[in-house]
Amino acid sequence: MRLLLVEDEPEMAAALTSALQRHDAIVDHVPTLDIAKTAVRDGAHDVILLDRQLPDGDGIDLIRHLRAHNSQVPVIVITARGSLPERIGGLDHGADDYITKPFAIDELLARIRAVLRRPAERRPLHVRVGELAFDLDGREASVAGTVIDLPRRELLVLEALIRRHGRTVLRSAIEEAVYNYDDAIQSNSLDSHISRLRKKLSEAGAGVEIHGIRGVGYLLRPIA
Ligand code: CA
Repeated sequence: MRLLLVEDEPEMAAALTSALQRHDAIVDHVPTLDIAKTAVRDGAHDVILLDRQLPDGDGIDLIRHLRAHNSQVPVIVITARGSLPERIGGLDHGADDYITKPFAIDELLARIRAVLRRPAERRPLHVRVGELAFDLDGREASVAGTVIDLPRRELLVLEALIRRHGRTVLRSAIEEAVYNYDDAIQSNSLDSHISRLRKKLSEAGAGVEIHGIRGVGYLLRPIA
């Protein structure tokens, strides 16, 4: 599960990010409306957690922006005061739910699960590149119905690449997706994950290649 957290208070953002990561989520954090609008362009997130009081405006603007661009990604509004007008306003503008600060992480997780249970056509559950199918929900890669057995970190690398297939994904972004716990990142370990992934994808007949751009990142694409 990949979440976009739009929150300008650094402490709140850091606490939420680490709590969500402990529950296996990949969290992209942005502090402003403006950056959030760029971050949603790829449609890479399963859920957006949205603070309303942002330095460059009302978080509701992001919901308007999303819906105007035909994105139905679920949005959970984080309301500061939990005032009734703020809550109603959020729901009226297309938020799927709201949660009032302060809240327990378990409640937030339950609300995330609830919005994700709503009609599945709202979000892309599967990505297909070449012969490779990737189930974003179950985090599973397969070719022609046969699951490719991949260890967790290789799956996370593959997920980071396939969500943005056809585009270069920065090393730092992949590393963030993979090492979200307390790991010390070995400078060459991403490259070893990639090289094992390449071998397994090729053996499985996935019809994709992982193209490396030295010092920058990697790109997943179908084999021409
Ligand atoms: Ca705020």
